[in-house]
Amino acid sequence: MERKLILSTGNKNKVEEIKDILKDLPIKVLSKDEVGINNLHVVEDGSTLEENAIKKAKALKDKVDGMVMADDTGLFVDYLNGEPGINSARYSGEEGNDEKNIEKLLGKLEGVPMEKRRATFKTVIALITEDNRTITVQGECKGYIGFEKKGQSGFGYDPLFIVEGYGRTFAELGEEIKNKISHRAKALENLRKEIVNILEDDGNEDTSHK
Ligand code: IMP
Repeated sequence: MERKLILSTGNKNKVEEIKDILKDLPIKVLSKDEVGINNLHVVEDGSTLEENAIKKAKALKDKVDGMVMADDTGLFVDYLNGEPGINSARYSGEEGNDEKNIEKLLGKLEGVPMEKRRATFKTVIALITEDNRTITVQGECKGYIGFEKKGQSGFGYDPLFIVEGYGRTFAELGEEIKNKISHRAKALENLRKEIVNILEDDGNEDTSHK
């Protein structure tokens, strides 16, 4: 029987990115919408990315069979003691949006020189296996917060985040490069390794029973 991995995200770009990275594995990757779940509302009130990712994964696991995964991402700015961090999506308030979040961040960093604008994007992915084991993996991307928006592609804080070693923002680098070097890409690579291990372990168990 083909094994399934169900994704808690409804974001089409993320779904495509995850399917692409896992495409050569013998598992069927499906979004929650594809298995008929479209009313899963989880309050992200954990104090870490890990807690929120696990919370989202557990809420989905209660409703489906198969493996599930959920991710949570935040932008951690050193000078602001890790702000916006787990509140990255809601930095400018519940009614906020990417534009307002960027304005708020630029305001808080006004007059702060480049060398003090270091920041890290972090993604945590929680995977829950068929037999209810919870595994978390993470990925990071280091950089700086620019003085102004640059570039057109991407979303969220992409126009402000200057990637270390590239000297350009995620929004300038474009999706193809971003998807190779981003926090989420690294977390997904780590997830891939964990899934490969799970599939191998299960394969070994099957043969040892024969
Ligand atoms: P989520 O956990 O992936 O929904 O991310 C939370 C928030 O972090 C988003 O609303 C964005 O503001 C920001 N964010 C997450 N990933 C990225 C990214 O790759 N680029 C820019 N902003 C991001």
